[in-house]
Amino acid sequence: MKARLGAVAAAAALALTLAACGSGQPSATGGGGDSGLKIGIKFDQPGMGLKKGSEYSGFDVDVAKYVAKALGTSEDKITWVQAPSAQRETLIQTGQVDFVVATYSITDARKEKVSFAGPYFIAGQDLLVRADDSSITGPDSLDGKKLCSVTGSTSAQKVKDKYPGVQLQEFGTYSECLPALQTGGVDALTTDDTILAGYAAQEQYKGKFKVVGKPFSQENYGIGLKKGDTALCQKVTDAIKKMVSDGSWQKALDANLGPAGYKPGAGNPPTPAACS
Ligand code: GLU
Repeated sequence: MKARLGAVAAAAALALTLAACGSGQPSATGGGGDSGLKIGIKFDQPGMGLKKGSEYSGFDVDVAKYVAKALGTSEDKITWVQAPSAQRETLIQTGQVDFVVATYSITDARKEKVSFAGPYFIAGQDLLVRADDSSITGPDSLDGKKLCSVTGSTSAQKVKDKYPGVQLQEFGTYSECLPALQTGGVDALTTDDTILAGYAAQEQYKGKFKVVGKPFSQENYGIGLKKGDTALCQKVTDAIKKMVSDGSWQKALDANLGPAGYKPGAGNPPTPAACS
């Protein structure tokens, strides 16, 4: 009996040691705290996730900071990691980030690899075209046109599935599409209306582009985290709910997307789903 208790104590001690060890993985109790957090965001989407010098801004950045704080992590302990659309699942699965807040739509295919807290926002897929182009009025008028989007996004997938007559060109990030759109290399850029509004409002492109304004999908943004980490999912979900109820969600939205004239569509703010 004594030996057995000893073994139990040893196992408990070992578990504690392992938990305390910095393995680079989020802890089983949900990550965060003094040890800091690695958070995946976009670096090139003004209004949502933007890196400018050593400054990070956008609605997703504000959501990430709010969630980090709720997990006990102060802003200066956050390491921002660029999370391009096609790399988000891998970054989470390999522990290179603790979670991703990067215009990341919750989908069944992605749920096979990662878990999501949320939604915390509902966007819609739309089109950005040159300001003087009246020939493109929606996805149905894209036949034979050159369309730019990003590898690994729901935006590109939708075009492949539903609009096979379009000439789709896929880049690694959306901002790479902008020079091509300006010079006529492509006729339109497709992704979420949030992202497109931010580009259209950018100083260097002012008056050059317009958002068509007829969303043709529903994109439920979630915070992606390691598959099956229900403890973390629960904490993040609680933080999202609090961000909405204490007014911080609206404030962040107004500050980041207000200047671009973006109005959130029906269903915002959404109620996050239960963690499973
Ligand atoms: N929300 C869409 C997605 O998660 C498009 C935007 C993006 O690629 O980040 O694929």
